[in-house]
Amino acid sequence: MPFTLPALPYGFEALEPVIDTQTMQIHHGKHHQAYVTNANKALEGTPWAEKSPEDVIRALGDIPADKRTVVRNNAGGHVNHSLFWTLMAPPGKGGGGAPTGALAEGIAKGWGTFEHFKEEFAKAAAGRFGSGWAWLVVGRDGALQICSTANQDNPLMGSGIAGCEGTPILGLDVWEHAYYLKYQNRRPDYVTAWWGVVNWPRVADLYAKAK
Ligand code: MN
Repeated sequence: MPFTLPALPYGFEALEPVIDTQTMQIHHGKHHQAYVTNANKALEGTPWAEKSPEDVIRALGDIPADKRTVVRNNAGGHVNHSLFWTLMAPPGKGGGGAPTGALAEGIAKGWGTFEHFKEEFAKAAAGRFGSGWAWLVVGRDGALQICSTANQDNPLMGSGIAGCEGTPILGLDVWEHAYYLKYQNRRPDYVTAWWGVVNWPRVADLYAKAK
């Protein structure tokens, strides 16, 4: 089965005013669709076309060398965005607030307070030069870590490729296409506003599965 563009779990306008409708339409319908199309084109006729996109990006070293970069960028983009949409919910309707339960405990263990965690995550997002992602991952030891990756790299690719590794449970797209229409060059303002749409129950589910 070729990869397909997943429907958003909410309307294009649902994340207003944090993320504007036009950004969501272009981001999902054009950018994410292009990653899906280009990944399928690269993998067509290979055994990799039958695998999940996560399995593909976990095994980039096994992808034929002439396809590896295009698969890294586009299957990576597909995995990243498919996760990203599910990590958000409309403000006040599942989005925003603070984590609870085991996730809150894991964050407290790593960073003391939720506020401090948010500061460190925002630093990773602001400090990524150019295009990329900030992540909260569960490492091999089960501990939570913050890291960032360039372009469409994903921690599932492993530290040798992505520069960080683990199971991502929260990810923030800091490509300009994710925020420029509304926030222009003000990436830190986008990051600050984004906390208002984070779907913490979803992050908590991913945390429970990753541990
Ligand atoms: Mn994006």
